[in-house]
Amino acid sequence: MTEVTLEELAEPYLRGVLATAGLDVEYVRGEGDRLYYRRGDEEVPVLDFVGGYGSTMLGHSNPELVAYAQELLAGHTPIHAQFSRHPYANEVAARLNRIIQRETGSDEPYFAIFANSGAEAIEAAMKHAELERYTRIEGLRAEIGANLEAAKAAAAAGTVTTRGVDAVVADVVAHNEALIAQTPLFLAPVGSFHGKLAGSTQLTYNPVYRAVFSALAAQARFVPVDEPGAVDDIVRSESRELHDVVVEGDRIEVVRRPFPRFCAVVLEPILGEGGIHELPETFVRDVRRVATELDIPVVVDEIQSGMGRTGAFLASSHLGLRGDYYAMAKSLGGGIAKAAVMLVRASRYQTSFEMMHSSTFAKDSFSCLIAGKVLEMLEADDGGVYRAAQSRGTELRSALRGLQEEFPEVLKDVRGRGLMVGLEFFEQGDATSETLRELHGSGFFGYFLSGYLLREHGIRTFPTSSAVYTLRFEPSAYIGAPDIARLTEALRELCRQIRDTDGRRLAPI
Ligand code: PMP
Repeated sequence: MTEVTLEELAEPYLRGVLATAGLDVEYVRGEGDRLYYRRGDEEVPVLDFVGGYGSTMLGHSNPELVAYAQELLAGHTPIHAQFSRHPYANEVAARLNRIIQRETGSDEPYFAIFANSGAEAIEAAMKHAELERYTRIEGLRAEIGANLEAAKAAAAAGTVTTRGVDAVVADVVAHNEALIAQTPLFLAPVGSFHGKLAGSTQLTYNPVYRAVFSALAAQARFVPVDEPGAVDDIVRSESRELHDVVVEGDRIEVVRRPFPRFCAVVLEPILGEGGIHELPETFVRDVRRVATELDIPVVVDEIQSGMGRTGAFLASSHLGLRGDYYAMAKSLGGGIAKAAVMLVRASRYQTSFEMMHSSTFAKDSFSCLIAGKVLEMLEADDGGVYRAAQSRGTELRSALRGLQEEFPEVLKDVRGRGLMVGLEFFEQGDATSETLRELHGSGFFGYFLSGYLLREHGIRTFPTSSAVYTLRFEPSAYIGAPDIARLTEALRELCRQIRDTDGRRLAPI
């Protein structure tokens, strides 16, 4: 029998991987932009630029939120009261609507479906889009069915000369039913990340997360973001047609009609896990146009980019993009609750969906009340948090650009908006140093940089999950200038290690 120790039962392989890069630290306390681990009797602070991968826009253990949470729990707020009125959920939806109206200039309301995680909000969007598509298909099926009956009636009455009408009808039905039985297609940018559940992982570009599970769910066609017209080419080559019949004079003709094969466009305004790339405006215009032509929804995934991180509540508002659906999570829960929501604009909303998607844990009072409080805090002082994210982000990016000028052979690019910032390193596959080549070969290069920054500088940052040469910085809106200076100094020293040494210190001892 294999001997196991109790601490090795929770994802032990992952823990091993973290240990390889020196990242298997246990944090015992979090406050603001600091996480603390224990060394002997003392607590060691770590300056945190991971920010819960974007969920701690208001910092760890935000005191106002913690006090509110304590008050809610002490007051025995009824957390699990499913199938009753939920005014707190309504309050969240109303606040989000006011914000969306302000930022997009539209006054059409959005209805809210609550969820527990970002991936679930995306799956709710996928399901809702499929419900829209299904409804259209049912309409088409009924119309075509009526036309087939009319053709059969015309044949029976002898008013048409076409022979073998029953066989024609059978062919049309067989063709259409085979098409309808196929899973639909989604469109998403190359580099997308939308979660790792069975459906959403198919919208996630990285094949490591997606390929094994492709038989489980509908597929996406990934559109390159920097090739104008690419989305049109994909749509053209993937389009399919239904067959229908018309009675023309004394003949029955088989005609073709567009089949709604596509379900939705799903996109992040700034690709997060794909390396912090803001979508080009030409791409956004192209997919918006194509979605309108196909009459499918554009699902804007603001799970990582939203809640003020980019200097506006919605990163998509910088792109002039209005979503038909929105998905939000992460910082919506203020770093203490698991809150997620999917919004659908009124003109596309299917009321029957409310009976088709729910969860024991979603829409509970605790997470909704916390989300409501988060929205109140974000909106306070005429958007003070948004302004802070914008100005801190500008400071951070200009410090990183300064570094890039100092180390043009090490640093490839500085990208992002507000406090969603990426710093891309040049690949080291051809480095003269054997260690650097080995770190490259591991496929975890950025994680070794993270381990080094943690060990040597007490700074926590990670690469984006699908682009491991890009370190990502998503601190809270309260990050201070001295913290940015500390990060810059640590990165300067890291760049020297890469440029001037054999890189051995980057690998843990
Ligand atoms: N969409 C985006 C843009 C994300 O960044 C993430 C998480 N990194 C998700 C969806 C999935 O969210 P969750 O981890 O809460 O399932």
